[in-house]
Amino acid sequence: TEWWRHVEPAAKDPILGVTEAFLADSHPDKVNVGVGAYRDDDGKPVVLECVREAERRITGNMNMEYLPMGGSVSMIHETLKLAYGEDSDLIKDKRIAAVQALSGTGACRLFADFQKRFSPDPQICIPVPTWSNHHNIWRDARVPQKTFHYYHPDSRGLDFSAMMDDIKNAPNGSFFLLHACAHNPTGVDPTEEQWKEISQQFKVKGHFPFFDMAYQGFASGDPERDAKSIRIFLEDGHLIGCAQSYAKNMGLYGQRIGCLSVVCEDEKQAVAVKSQLQQLARPMYSNPPVHGALIVSTILGDQNLKQLWLEEVKGMANRIIGMRTALRDNLENLGSPLSWEHITKQIGMFCYSGMTPEQVDLLTKQYHIYMTRNGRISMAGVTTGNVGYLANAIHQVTK
Ligand code: PLP
Repeated sequence: TEWWRHVEPAAKDPILGVTEAFLADSHPDKVNVGVGAYRDDDGKPVVLECVREAERRITGNMNMEYLPMGGSVSMIHETLKLAYGEDSDLIKDKRIAAVQALSGTGACRLFADFQKRFSPDPQICIPVPTWSNHHNIWRDARVPQKTFHYYHPDSRGLDFSAMMDDIKNAPNGSFFLLHACAHNPTGVDPTEEQWKEISQQFKVKGHFPFFDMAYQGFASGDPERDAKSIRIFLEDGHLIGCAQSYAKNMGLYGQRIGCLSVVCEDEKQAVAVKSQLQQLARPMYSNPPVHGALIVSTILGDQNLKQLWLEEVKGMANRIIGMRTALRDNLENLGSPLSWEHITKQIGMFCYSGMTPEQVDLLTKQYHIYMTRNGRISMAGVTTGNVGYLANAIHQVTK
């Protein structure tokens, strides 16, 4: 009479399934451009030097006590400065309710739970397409989802006019999920001018923007520049929500370190919101893990280590930008008649190649190249050593 007898295997996660298939393939030339984790030019995972140094400093000095329920105070302070600006009045005026979160995913989920608990009519408008886990997160939090236009398949860029129409036509006071930079999976971001228009329209409609910022620093190489979208909204006086993650920009994937923040009208409201976020976390995981928080606060709290981090982020972004150029050049040199301009126009970790699921299947079957069937290439998996092979394979299946 086991009650779980009827349980069927869960559908495979479209992203994690790619890695499984890659690992099972024994071909020597196999390439994994599926997973969204940075690799160096030898295809190896990277531990940043600033992280190694922070670990050296932490070793022996650390106790294993619980963090406060809201997480590490110094980590949160440094993290808010990254998103809101070093001299942000919102930080000075203590108007931001912020808690340490289980990386970007945990921050999104906590926000969704907060919406569900406190919004009289919770809903979220999600771009098409988006990181597939966004759908799972708001579904499991039982917040109804709507979508808005974002990507334009023909131009492989932003469908700005359709997006603006959706913003205008949504009921006043709607919640929107926005990727702060380096949109996943498309690599397509609004320009600064477009962000300004979006922000203005949000004002008119009284919409609430929730920024998922999983790639700050990864898009341009400069965390300040990548926060521009958020800063534009702040200049316009919006109250925003923000999910931050150190998975990509510090390479702390498995540490699960991030932050959820909500801008409030005053300090009193921020204290209340923070206490409610903690209340939501308490029965789920009680309080967040200590090690990643200590790494982050050690790095960002030290001018020299922070400088080293900024250089290393820039190094990662530049390698990716270089690989975009190399991939496009290779395709053009092979005589591909198609336009590959979008490879270098798009930004961040991913290139939305425009390949069809059938073309991706061919790449995998004939060339042992692994990626999600939506044609998303993780540029982090492209190296000097495999870019020629990858370009040739793409050329063969698209000609
Ligand atoms: N949001 C977006 C858009 C992402 O692409 C990712 C990671 O792929 C995340 C959030 C969350 O990642 P993590 O939970 O590892 O910080």
